[in-house]
Amino acid sequence: MVYAYDDQNIFAKILRGEIPNQTVFENEHALAFRDINAQAPVHVLVIPKGPYMSLDHFARDGSADEQVGFMKAVAEVCRLEAVDAGFRAVANAREDGVQEVPHYHLHILAGRNLGPMLMG
Ligand code: 5GP
Repeated sequence: MVYAYDDQNIFAKILRGEIPNQTVFENEHALAFRDINAQAPVHVLVIPKGPYMSLDHFARDGSADEQVGFMKAVAEVCRLEAVDAGFRAVANAREDGVQEVPHYHLHILAGRNLGPMLMG
């Protein structure tokens, strides 16, 4: 698999500060911010700061520090958003995964019963 990262994608622009975002948490390796089109009372996107297109790209090529930093950011989002009743983490990838933005992001959804995992 060849991963050709496009640095003009919207999340790259958010990381460069060219587009505003509602930040929930940030550390050296990851940024977490609210989804502009929330699908649940809590809908936060966690993204690595490095140029990775998808979960499998990040899992293959991200450094151990980047991967740990990313997962620590996920933990902080869950703590800050108080998702004690439960949550769903979703990573869409490429065409069949219906990924809209080609910068890896993990959706953290919570705040209501999210129903069955797949609708279609
Ligand atoms: P995907 O389908 O790629 O997994 O999800 C992309 C997500 O990014 C969508 O839920 C969409 O609402 C969100 N999104 C797209 N553009 C922006 C933006 O400019 N700002 C924020 N905060 N979210 C965005």
